[in-house]
Amino acid sequence: MTFVTNEANNTSRAEPTSAPEPKGRATDDRGTGSGAAYPEPVDRLIAELASLPGIGRRSAERLAFHLLKAREDDAMGLARAIHDVKTSVRHCQVCFNFADEDRCRVCRDDRRDRGLVLVIEQPKDLIALEQTGMYKGLYHVLMGRLSPLEGVGPEAITAEQLFRRIERPESNAGGVPVREVILGMNPTVEGEGTALYLAEELRARGVKLSRLARGLPAGAPIEFASKAVLADAIEGRRNVE
Ligand code: ZN
Repeated sequence: MTFVTNEANNTSRAEPTSAPEPKGRATDDRGTGSGAAYPEPVDRLIAELASLPGIGRRSAERLAFHLLKAREDDAMGLARAIHDVKTSVRHCQVCFNFADEDRCRVCRDDRRDRGLVLVIEQPKDLIALEQTGMYKGLYHVLMGRLSPLEGVGPEAITAEQLFRRIERPESNAGGVPVREVILGMNPTVEGEGTALYLAEELRARGVKLSRLARGLPAGAPIEFASKAVLADAIEGRRNVE
């Protein structure tokens, strides 16, 4: 299954300009004098590395030369790690989190509140929320967000699978009916649009809806907060005990 992750195009990281230009023939000393081309496997490695987000040609060459110099065990460790993630890591059948079995660690944990589903955009959002140790429900990872301008519609995210979890409790972890959905999209234009779309669809399915409260980031003065953050902070204010 291929999803639009919204991050595939994140190639904006600047190439370091101070990196020394690799000496083209440093590893090919056979001295045929027939030009500056690397041996074919080296060319292929550089091309593969350069296709990664944020890695330009020069960085790719630097990484390739690093790997050529590295001990075989170390370099093959990287190759094995890539092989293992591609062969053993998949998406959870329930929530689309990364998993090494049909269901992820969160969905398998029967101590969690399986009637509560927090909808988020990316697996890394789940990691961040889990690190707080504050949330005891389940998740649903959309694997992206709606972006009409980029042609990303509901079929490109896991919205349909979320609706099925609500409609058919047997497709939720433990077969438990979903009682409440919490919308946890990012506070961006696309995130807000996605939340609006989901809210409408979920309301029609009669499930209780809430969304994550937002507020002033710790350490950031009020004068620098955006209007949306201030509005959320006022709306989500709490009683002082
Ligand atoms: Zn799961």
